[in-house]
Amino acid sequence: MNADIILENANIWTVDNQLPRAQALAVSGNEIIFVGSNDRVQEMSGPNTRLLDLRGHLVLPGFNDCHTHFINAALRTATNFDLYWVTDMQEIQSRLRKFSEEHPDNDWLHGMRWFPTRINNGVWPTRADLDAVESKRPVVIFDIDGHSCWTNTAAIERMGYTASTPDPEGGQMLRDASGYPTGVFFEVAQEAFVRYPPVSVGEFPRLFQKEIARLNKLGITSISNNGIKPMYLDAIEAMDKNNSLQLRISEWPMILDGLDKAVELRERFAKSEKFRVHTVKTLMDGVMSNYSAWMLEPFADKPGETGYPVIDPEKLEPLVIEADRLGFQVATHVIGTRAVRTMLDIYERAQKENDRLDCRHRLEHVESSHPDDRKRFAELGVISSMTPVHCTADLEGYYISRLGDSGHLGFAWKSFLENSVHLSFGTDWPAVDLREPSPLEQIFGAVTRCTPQNYGKLKWHLEQCISVQDAIRSYTLEGAYAEKMEHRKGSLTTGKLADMIVLSENILESPPEKLLETKVLMTIFDGEIVHNLEAF
Ligand SMILES: [Zn+2]
Repeated sequence: MNADIILENANIWTVDNQLPRAQALAVSGNEIIFVGSNDRVQEMSGPNTRLLDLRGHLVLPGFNDCHTHFINAALRTATNFDLYWVTDMQEIQSRLRKFSEEHPDNDWLHGMRWFPTRINNGVWPTRADLDAVESKRPVVIFDIDGHSCWTNTAAIERMGYTASTPDPEGGQMLRDASGYPTGVFFEVAQEAFVRYPPVSVGEFPRLFQKEIARLNKLGITSISNNGIKPMYLDAIEAMDKNNSLQLRISEWPMILDGLDKAVELRERFAKSEKFRVHTVKTLMDGVMSNYSAWMLEPFADKPGETGYPVIDPEKLEPLVIEADRLGFQVATHVIGTRAVRTMLDIYERAQKENDRLDCRHRLEHVESSHPDDRKRFAELGVISSMTPVHCTADLEGYYISRLGDSGHLGFAWKSFLENSVHLSFGTDWPAVDLREPSPLEQIFGAVTRCTPQNYGKLKWHLEQCISVQDAIRSYTLEGAYAEKMEHRKGSLTTGKLADMIVLSENILESPPEKLLETKVLMTIFDGEIVHNLEAF
């Protein structure tokens, strides 16, 4: 068979134990038809074959980000100005000015990912800072966690707020001496503001494609996503059918939104290899930062407090059992040790009750885990799905103080591997301290347990560091395994889908800091070159 594309003189790491290394690879249509030597690949060359001489560059399977909220983030990115790590007030103002000039027709001006603690020496800014740039149209800027927002006066007037408007239940407006809002709103009070201007179904494909291109540039060819709005499903289905969807998406409906809806979606997209619904999502507890993680033992820096579940486990259990019976994987957000144990118990009971094989239920984040529970993941076939940068970015801020002497419970990715647990990696984008949802920065975190800033200085449970090879496996083959697609993707193997990347550095052999300089030179998705930085 003649190949459409041949990669030769490459340093291919396949993530396939049967044939870990190769020099050459051939693609026909959207599949890999050969992996092996430079000599043998020539047999597949024909008059229309595109021959790429990779000059020794490293080739890996495309990355799989196994936990994101990408689609909503994409809509926000396309319609907001981004203040990620902008810590200078003048720079914030100049970004707003530029955005305002470039969007003369926007009714509201929206900004995102502002860090409240990193501007103004931690003092809350006010509406006056934004009024100085934009006094006519309303401006609203949301913080990186999505728990606070900051507005100008026009926004306050548009909402009809005055000094006598009361705070909503579960929310707060900061006020000046007269009681008038200063422009900063918390929790339920900030939820009153819309996060992005409405994106019409007609506009969606163009915006979405632009954001997918951004992922392809980072080497990402697959994601698992939670939170798509149903109004955009027709557009995604059309993109899939006309071959313009350059990303494989495993979409997770919420279990609480109804399993009948999830069944309907699973059937609707049953034939697609680009958009699939086989997993349902739920949450067991909260987060470490505000002590809502549900722990077996109290927090070291808040004696007596053990957090709490966000749903009654007895209410969740029958839903999980029903989802399991219907053949869904269940993915549950768990942060604290008790949340992990409770969900393992529930998964165990679901498996006993329905007696299904290979359920592959998942626990998401798993920021802490009791050593006794780690082997249970392997026994029950439960996947540990983790975000390395959730560890590294928050260690010094609060994580080390929350766990104290129990630090060995935290982010135990090496222990999971030693217990033969399936470990996959994702970013939780955009709820993560990353400029872009970059797999290479995440792999740096998994390998060093540090940020680029504290690397070499912070030494916190470095026994849990893993090798670059293991981290790549968690970002490729294990991501595919976690969505039951390892027979079609996740490694460079004859017969699998042609999703792969070419890197500028040999990250298998270079020191960890090189990961941060490494560029994705080329991304091939579904047999097409979708990102190309260098001519081969
Ligand atoms: Zn998430």
